[in-house]
This record gives sequence, C-alpha cells and structure tokens, in this order.
Amino acid sequence: MFISIDNLCFCYDPKDRALDGFSMKIEKGEVVSILGPSGSGKSTLLRLFAGLEIPCEGTFKIEDRVIFNDHSFVQPEKRGIGMVFQDYALFPHMTVAENVAFGLKDMKRSEKKARVKEVLEIVELGEFEHRYPHQLSGGQQQRVAIARAIAPNPNLILLDEPFSNLDAELQVKIRKDLRAILKNQGITAVFVTHDENDALAIADRIVKLKDGKIDSVGRPCDLLGAQ
Ligand code: ADP
Ligand code: ADP
Repeated sequence: MFISIDNLCFCYDPKDRALDGFSMKIEKGEVVSILGPSGSGKSTLLRLFAGLEIPCEGTFKIEDRVIFNDHSFVQPEKRGIGMVFQDYALFPHMTVAENVAFGLKDMKRSEKKARVKEVLEIVELGEFEHRYPHQLSGGQQQRVAIARAIAPNPNLILLDEPFSNLDAELQVKIRKDLRAILKNQGITAVFVTHDENDALAIADRIVKLKDGKIDSVGRPCDLLGAQ
C-alpha cells in the first residue's frame, strides 16, 4: 500500500475533536476525494497531511517512510507533498515559468528549464510561460498552480477546493482536465471538496466526512448514484 493513515486525531479545542480516528489507505496513482459539508474537518485533514498542524494522535506513512507517528514528525518541506489551494496562491511578481520553477530549487538550471517546459505542456500552457498571473484567466491560473504542485514529482498532491473560485462552465471543463492530468501522469492525489459534482468527476474513490469522522467510503457510482 502506498499511503496509510491510521487513527488520525486532531483538536483545536480539547473538548471538541475536529478529526476523530481517521484511517484509510491510498494506492499509488489513486485520486481520492474527501467530500463533506463545511466544518466536517476537510481542511484540517489536509493541513495535517501537509505538516501545517501537529496531530494529537495517529500515524501517516508513505510507503515505508513514517511521516508522523507518536515519536516522529517530518517537516513539511521534507515530505514530498505538493499543494493546490483554493485561491491558487501564485506569486504575483513572478512569471508563470518562475512560479512553476519555484519548487525546483535543487535542480540544475538546464534541468529546471526543461522540467518547467514539460509541466507547462502537460497543463496546456506552453505559450504562457512569460506572462504574469494577472494576465491569465482564473482557469489558467489554476492550471499554473497545478503545474507548480506537480513539477517536483511529489509523492502526493493535495487539492483544497481548487475550483470554488471558478464559474460553473469553467468548473466542468477543468474537472475533466484535472482528472486527465492526474491519471495520465499517475499522480496520487487527495482532493477536498463540498461539491458532489467535483467528487464524481474527479475521484476514483470518495470518502464522505461528517463531524470529523468517516461516514462512508466507496466508488463514485456506488456512493453518489449512477450519473
Ligand atoms: P472544513 O474544511 O470541512 O470546512 P475544518 O477542517 O475547517 O472543516 O473544520 C473542522 C472543525 O474544526 C470545525 O468545527 C471548525 O469550526 C473547527 N476549526 C477549524 N479551524 C479552526 C481553528 N483554527 N480554531 C478552532 N477551531 C477550528
Ligand atoms: P474552508 O471550509 O473553506 O476550508 P473555513 O471557512 O472552514 O475554510 O476556514 C477558514 C479559516 O478559518 C481556516 O484557516 C480555518 O483554520 C479557520 N477556522 C475555521 N473555523 C474556525 C473556528 N471555529 N475558529 C477559528 N478559526 C477557524
């Protein structure tokens, strides 16, 4: 098994568990959607995976490497985990190419250039490398954020409601594009959303979260009905 998460717990307030015994396994290349209403614990889960919060209990492993357990805690930048945020979080003063190159610090210049070109082709933004974020549409900015997250070949990418700022028509298109990118590149991803249509269009498997606990797990067609 590629990723295993066991009995993950987290409290902001000692009397109230934002996450309560979350366990699951994820296969390499699998795209999992975490689906749940506001307040169900989705962002907290991603923040724990990314290393932005310290769990009060639980184990997280990628292959045989312990990312955290009772005794150890790997720092965020050492986890090999990429993130795509709701608001894209692109650097406004950097070009598209510079944004994508940001996570490739340890590469040689020539390799870096080649990798940036390669991932921009994957997200179909090959022509846009010299533009600045404000010169792009919302959907294009989102694809730059995806390119930046996948450029360092992460073990896992985390996506936190990445489509919520896009209009409805664009959401339909970018859902398909994102699924194609993830599956073609064999990227393991955890995608957090409150929108069933996102989960249906993108996930291999859906985990429904309710009050910090897993409510149900299944394939999109089984969990949300045939579409
Ligand atoms: P979601 O992403 O599904 O909306 P969150 O993970 O943001 O859910 O929140 C889970 C629970 O933790 C909610 O009850 C929320 O009010 C609480 N919570 C989230 N962030 C904080 C925080 N910084 N301080 C205190 N409570 C928080
Ligand atoms: P989303 O559901 O879009 O993930 P939220 O609206 O739940 O975001 O939270 C936005 C921000 O507010 C997050 O940084 C979260 O940690 C914080 N937050 C959420 N709930 C609470 C809370 N009850 N008390 C303090 N901070 C909170």
